[in-house]
Amino acid sequence: MRDETASVVIIGAGQAGLSVAYYLQRLGMRAGSDFLVLDRGPGAGGAWQHRWESLRLGSAHKVHDLPGMKTMGISFETADRTRPARDVVAEYYEQYELHQDLRVRRPVQVSAVFDRGADLVVRTDRGDILASAVVNATGTWGAPFVPYYPGVLDFRGKQVHTATYTSAEDFRGQRVLVVGGGTSAIGFLLELEGVAEKTLWATRRPVDFLDHGTLDLEDAVTAVAQQDAAARSGRALPSIVSGTGVPRTRRIAAGIARGVLDARPMFARLESAAVVWPDGAREQVDAVVWATGFRPDVRHLSPLKLHEKEGGIVVATGAAQRDPRIFFAGYGPMASTIGANRSGRIVARQVYAAVGDRPAPVAPAAPPPAPQPARARGSFRPATSEVPIPFKEQQEEPQDGVSILARFFADD
Ligand SMILES: Cc1cc2nc3c(=O)[nH]c(=O)nc-3n(C[C@H](O)[C@H](O)[C@H](O)COP(=O)(O)OP(=O)(O)OC[C@H]3O[C@@H](n4cnc5c(N)ncnc54)[C@H](O)[C@@H]3O)c2cc1C
Repeated sequence: MRDETASVVIIGAGQAGLSVAYYLQRLGMRAGSDFLVLDRGPGAGGAWQHRWESLRLGSAHKVHDLPGMKTMGISFETADRTRPARDVVAEYYEQYELHQDLRVRRPVQVSAVFDRGADLVVRTDRGDILASAVVNATGTWGAPFVPYYPGVLDFRGKQVHTATYTSAEDFRGQRVLVVGGGTSAIGFLLELEGVAEKTLWATRRPVDFLDHGTLDLEDAVTAVAQQDAAARSGRALPSIVSGTGVPRTRRIAAGIARGVLDARPMFARLESAAVVWPDGAREQVDAVVWATGFRPDVRHLSPLKLHEKEGGIVVATGAAQRDPRIFFAGYGPMASTIGANRSGRIVARQVYAAVGDRPAPVAPAAPPPAPQPARARGSFRPATSEVPIPFKEQQEEPQDGVSILARFFADD
């Protein structure tokens, strides 16, 4: 059987993957033939479909519309804030996919991407696809990060991460230690109040509560620049929160006043049923909630050896420096809904410049040749920093640095 072929395979149908697909289509590429969108999730909604029930749209941060959404007559700005965000976002994304005819294939799990000389082989649980370029838009939800602390393996109580947290009710009457200095941790502490017997909060560094209720753009720019520099130089990405601060919204200010949001420095160790603080004080703990963030979910790219020895992937002009056929959308500083929109637009242009007017790879009738070590690029043109591909912009996206504000809340 011949492998399927497409010029471009987009892995992931969250905000980033859908945005790339939308812009590729506007550049004249056809969904389902020129480019394929694959997603392992059971339904529409990207990572949102997996978030906990009590999370509501706009409870802390803005969720930006996908490009072209307003012209469909729907907007997250007017979406229902009383229903779980996971349901609302899934419904909106589903409508969007249908209306824009993006032909997302799901559930399709991409297990690996291989270099087959001039082409890439995208290995999925439905077979291989030959592609000239791959857009990785897999987000972070599948790669929760839990730091190592002494005694963590001895702890006998319940441990959950943001990715597996379902409800405060799971902790009713318990003594809960929440770890992490971001808005997820703050949200968990506020909803555990009055349900758990007691909450304790540990953070790696003091939480910098800002005096205003919104993020100072200059702080955020600095933080995003740090992330960007890390991404470009191949280092692991630092947390955005570490470079900004937490806006003191009314809800947060009230939590601070009630003493619920009283962060302590990280504990020295965990024991089977207790936390031991740096001064030796010991407190009984029944459960730990690790709100310690996520990392880019890129394990399927490991055959391509894109990582630097420092730990990160060098990404410049939207593509991996080690293999410019691999593009990243929604990665690092772009990991927010508006960042995903922006990177979708930028990456689509880069992809189109590289492969847009070229035929898809030709699948061999015979068994494919063994992978070649040399990277003959075939018809692929590496992206340049300026890609002069004009298409009409819809004036519906904020033109300032709002993405940075959204990213601030992204992962920890
Ligand atoms: C708890 C939390 C709250 C957040 N709240 C906000 C907010 O309010 N506002 C905001 O702007 N941002 C928020 N963010 C940031 C959020 O990550 C982005 O907003 C955005 O939704 C991410 O979109 P994405 O497309 O990059 O990733 P995702 O939504 O994670 O989509 C990635 C898709 O890739 C698929 N996938 C992954 N690996 C594979 C594979 N190997 N094969 C096939 N498919 C695969 C997944 O199934 C998924 O559908 C939040 C993040 C978290 C963790």
